[in-house]
Amino acid sequence: MHTNLKAFRTHAPGCWPDVDATQWNDWKWQMKNRITSLAQLEALMQLTPQERAGTILSGSKLALGITPHFFNLIDREDPLCPIRRQVIPRLEETRIAPGELADPCGEDSRMPVPGLVHRYPDRVLFLVTDRCASYCRYCTRSRVVSGAGEQELHIEFEEAFRYLETHTEVRDVLLSGGDPLLLSDDRLESILRRLRSIEHIEFLRIGSRIPIFMPQRVTPELCRMLQRYHPLWMSVHVNHPRELTVEVKEALGRLADHGVPLGNQSVLLSGVNDEVEIMKALVQKLLICRVRPYYIYQLDLILGSSHLQVPLSKGLEIMEALRGHTTGYAVPQYVIDAPGGGGKIPINPDYQIYRDEEKLVLRNYEGKMFEYPLKNGVLKEAAVPC
Ligand SMILES: *Cc1c(COP(=O)(O)O)cnc(C)c1O
Repeated sequence: MHTNLKAFRTHAPGCWPDVDATQWNDWKWQMKNRITSLAQLEALMQLTPQERAGTILSGSKLALGITPHFFNLIDREDPLCPIRRQVIPRLEETRIAPGELADPCGEDSRMPVPGLVHRYPDRVLFLVTDRCASYCRYCTRSRVVSGAGEQELHIEFEEAFRYLETHTEVRDVLLSGGDPLLLSDDRLESILRRLRSIEHIEFLRIGSRIPIFMPQRVTPELCRMLQRYHPLWMSVHVNHPRELTVEVKEALGRLADHGVPLGNQSVLLSGVNDEVEIMKALVQKLLICRVRPYYIYQLDLILGSSHLQVPLSKGLEIMEALRGHTTGYAVPQYVIDAPGGGGKIPINPDYQIYRDEEKLVLRNYEGKMFEYPLKNGVLKEAAVPC
């Protein structure tokens, strides 16, 4: 069924045969030529009735936006295409299920300054823009992202920098949004420079799906600029192995060559990556791209997301099939970002079968049982490193 999930393909120019390579490889061209209307979408593919209705209604919720690069990955003949499900709106988005919330992770109540979310003791999330290159239909921040919804994000940059200067406990700043790589090199650099001028900030991170949606943005100039602000890490967002194309692999390689350690955050999505075989191919293919799988998220309970929700048992089954069965570096941490603002909480298959004062009974990835003695003297001896 899934032949060659790990093959790197190129899909350019695909639906844009008349566009020359210089234009295609220019991220400004990719931005200008994004698909943002029903008419553009229908000129390129036939929509299902649910998609058509969903697209019409998306204008008042989360805008439609797909870069030509990413659009070409869609199998237009397949209504169940896993790429299609991520970016083409559906009528189900307007159906609100019990427990769903506009602000599922309780971010708005944790913003000391508009744009700055301070939930954990030593790190902050800094939302530096409300726009993305393409819009994920399951966006956790759809309440403020894309400009289509009712809520607006007014980022107070100066106030945010002053907050960070006075909060010496903050050692880690995560830039997100929206997608920070949508800012110009100069604008992004001015933010990084300002953050680097604050002595207690040790560690910078950028959360971005642009290397996937628009690898053309990852220019040598951008990479050289980022290199000046190390230690700077990046978390990308890949959900299906097909998103790792030749161009994406090159863009990720450029970032890695410039010393940017890369992590990946996947969202578990029904009909996209809720199968062991797909997730295993994804995490292995990420390692080939020099990206360390970091998190698999249970989908946040955002409004109109029930058609994409995956049962927890399926997520655990996937984790069980990874741990021990493949490279440890390929195994991400499965987490739930707790509703109401509890932060990311790890969810794991249980490998501890039994425990008392004397011993711990464990099972390994094959289901075999092992006993680990917990008696004081024995523990000391057993704990001596080789
Ligand atoms: C995810 C997140 C972070 C970063 O968490 P890590 O586990 O360190 O990657 C920081 N702040 C907020 C508000 C977050 O949601």
